[in-house]
Amino acid sequence: MFELLKTDDRSKARLGRLSTPHGVVDTPVFMSVGTQGSVKALDPRELREMGTQIILGNTYHLSIRPGMEIIEATGGLHRFINWPAPILTDSGGFQVFSLATIRKIQEHGVEFRSHLDGSLLFLGPREAMAIQRKLGSDIAMVFDDCPPHTSTPREMRAAVERTLRWAAECREQPRAEGQLVFGIVQGGTDAVLREACARRLVELQFDGYAIGGVSVGEPEPEMLRAVELTEAFLPAEKPRYAMGLGTPAQLVELVARGVDMFDCVLPTRVARNGTAFTRKGSISIKAGAYKSDFRPIEEGCDCFACRHFTRAYLRHLLNVGEILGLRMLSVHNTRMFLRVMEEVRAAIADGSFADYRREFAQNYVPTQKVLLARAAAADR
Ligand SMILES: [Zn+2]
Repeated sequence: MFELLKTDDRSKARLGRLSTPHGVVDTPVFMSVGTQGSVKALDPRELREMGTQIILGNTYHLSIRPGMEIIEATGGLHRFINWPAPILTDSGGFQVFSLATIRKIQEHGVEFRSHLDGSLLFLGPREAMAIQRKLGSDIAMVFDDCPPHTSTPREMRAAVERTLRWAAECREQPRAEGQLVFGIVQGGTDAVLREACARRLVELQFDGYAIGGVSVGEPEPEMLRAVELTEAFLPAEKPRYAMGLGTPAQLVELVARGVDMFDCVLPTRVARNGTAFTRKGSISIKAGAYKSDFRPIEEGCDCFACRHFTRAYLRHLLNVGEILGLRMLSVHNTRMFLRVMEEVRAAIADGSFADYRREFAQNYVPTQKVLLARAAAADR
């Protein structure tokens, strides 16, 4: 199922191959997010052409709209959205705890009100696994309790206990043919909780392990710490997935910490604000500086947008609200993330990952928010 091809000599970076019912995924891999059954503004053909290996779908959103009857009637999510390659589905736990109005957390799940129309719904381990079985995803995630990073130690402990109980329940549920199921480690930045949660999940023998409770508003140093505290207790022969992360520079650092899989809404989300990712950090194409800049978004980029359009033209499209502008920025950003992962895999394969990592970090200018968080952590 997962073949560990190589581990880097000078870091924990790993090269691997993950086999799923809809094909093989080369790791480290970036997974584009198609929450509602579509990677925003991009179609399946261009996603495949730019090298997308696997995309995400979401249990919470898809089960509310269009509803499982519609997706089941077409024969599952792959057919409904016409995506022939692997799909990973999130269990909906994160959305229930972040979007919905929770009425009551119960023994076997959560009673909540839909964020759309306020209707009363229930999602727990059984329901989340049943939905993912009907969606027919290649990788299903367990239903977990993902608390905010500001939770008290007592709340964090309760969330871990609930996550473990629910993981065991998920493990017993029927799955789609060949479907892999990943456990999710919670525990915030508490070393004892992270270790306990990871060890108990490993005993349950999942097909892979996710590091959850990251990308929940915590500063970068806390995120990296949570990943390090978890990774140490995960088996080498199973894939590791850091949920909801990150910027290109963070992905390279997380690969160096032994993570194999990533998903993030950033490439398409920031594209809609006119922001492009480059090797030197992110830039706002809407800025006046690009008014008569006839270079591509990024020199040397092989994406469709960079091969055909200038910054000046894209800036114009964004400023007049043309859909093509945000589509082309989504194309560039998504290809940029995929290409960084391609380079990371090549560098691990030929033993040059340490040099690649150092150069990447030297060139990449992080956002002000990340820089401030780093400075605060260094002062402590
Ligand atoms: Zn490009």
